[in-house]
Amino acid sequence: MSADDDATSRPDPGRRWLERATEAVAAARLRSGSGRVAVMELLAREGRCLLSAAEVADGLRDAGAGSAATVYRALEQLHGLGLVRRLVGEDGVARYEIVDPEHPHQHVVDPATGELRPFADEAVDEAIRGALARRGLELESYDLIVRARTAAGLTAAARRPHPPTTRS
Ligand SMILES: [Zn+2]
Repeated sequence: MSADDDATSRPDPGRRWLERATEAVAAARLRSGSGRVAVMELLAREGRCLLSAAEVADGLRDAGAGSAATVYRALEQLHGLGLVRRLVGEDGVARYEIVDPEHPHQHVVDPATGELRPFADEAVDEAIRGALARRGLELESYDLIVRARTAAGLTAAARRPHPPTTRS
């Protein structure tokens, strides 16, 4: 695995995030919860990009880490602390990923299906950082969702009305 390649130099991004998140949760004096710890550990392993609460719950099922409600509450707490990003696709499903300032990426949504996918482009990232720097601003994080489709998706997209984009 690629994570092992980095083991000799520095902790992988998931591990760095887990350390940061553990400190932030402690500082926030949240009631301790084994469910949240399990969610954080799963996010550190697999949460670099867009996991739904249901996917997290599925991943924790064997560990017996609690109900879907526990998972959802933990994700929302972590989101409230700025530790995870929440993106809602046009399918209305909230998906979460760890905030990793060193590995920013963007997302593209297919209007036909509402599916969100990662979309990493250094030029986009550099343009955002450059625009901020010219205004004397320092980047903390950003969410960028690009709506795009392949030519093959045009017919399906044109037939289909967009579902609601937000859910609270
Ligand atoms: Zn992502």
